[in-house]
Amino acid sequence: MGTKSVDHEERAGRLWSILTALAKDKKITTYGEAAREIGIHHRPMRFVLEPIQDFCIKEDLPRLTSLVVSKTNGLQGSGYLGIPGHTADLEKVFAFGWNTVANPFSDLKIAELDRIVAELVSDPGTASEKYIQTLSRGNRQRVFRQAVLQAYDWNCCMCGLTFHDSLDAAHIVSWASAKPNLRIDPRNGLALCATHHKLYDKGWLNVTPDYRIVYVDPNQEDGPYSEADVYNSARLHGASVQLPKEASLWPNPDLLSLHETDQE
Ligand SMILES: [Zn+2]
Repeated sequence: MGTKSVDHEERAGRLWSILTALAKDKKITTYGEAAREIGIHHRPMRFVLEPIQDFCIKEDLPRLTSLVVSKTNGLQGSGYLGIPGHTADLEKVFAFGWNTVANPFSDLKIAELDRIVAELVSDPGTASEKYIQTLSRGNRQRVFRQAVLQAYDWNCCMCGLTFHDSLDAAHIVSWASAKPNLRIDPRNGLALCATHHKLYDKGWLNVTPDYRIVYVDPNQEDGPYSEADVYNSARLHGASVQLPKEASLWPNPDLLSLHETDQE
């Protein structure tokens, strides 16, 4: 995948733990101090605070982000949707039992994610609903990976490799270009080994809407090729991909025709 966007939600997960610990001790922090704790510059802090604030509003929780104030004036910044300096907000945060709320940005709720994966694999039509339930990018990536690899029974759909550690769930339409539900829909995925994932993303290998593998140089004119190169590239040209057993999980042909190669 070529997308290298910063994962603010992963950082929000770390900040969530820090803020809930501060709330328990009835302490506040500054933008600079909080940024240092999660290892970033203070300027992008608002992108990290935003998902936390959104979650608190959505779940009707006290605004945890009221704990982060400017060192200069002691007030919350412009992204804060409460009233800056309003002590009632802080008191609610201090009084709340944060240990009753699981970190919404953590990857730790494995059992819940596994249940979501199972439901998604049995009915990929529920992807929109599952996208909302999964809350963070980290969770969504895990759900997509598990759903796609389960669908293909942990085989690279081009070469049949089954080493779990070297298998990826490749997006057909990239995370960045896909509508939210398609980011986790297994029908927008292919189970590929690391090599075939890279060659697919870079456009050396493609999959047609009727599920055939296309290699860009089928006659090996752009050699020299080693035996292993041929085995993993030109040999596959024209072959069918190994599809999931369940036809409901087969890749969407419309998405296959929209696949764009990753230009760098
Ligand atoms: Zn492979």
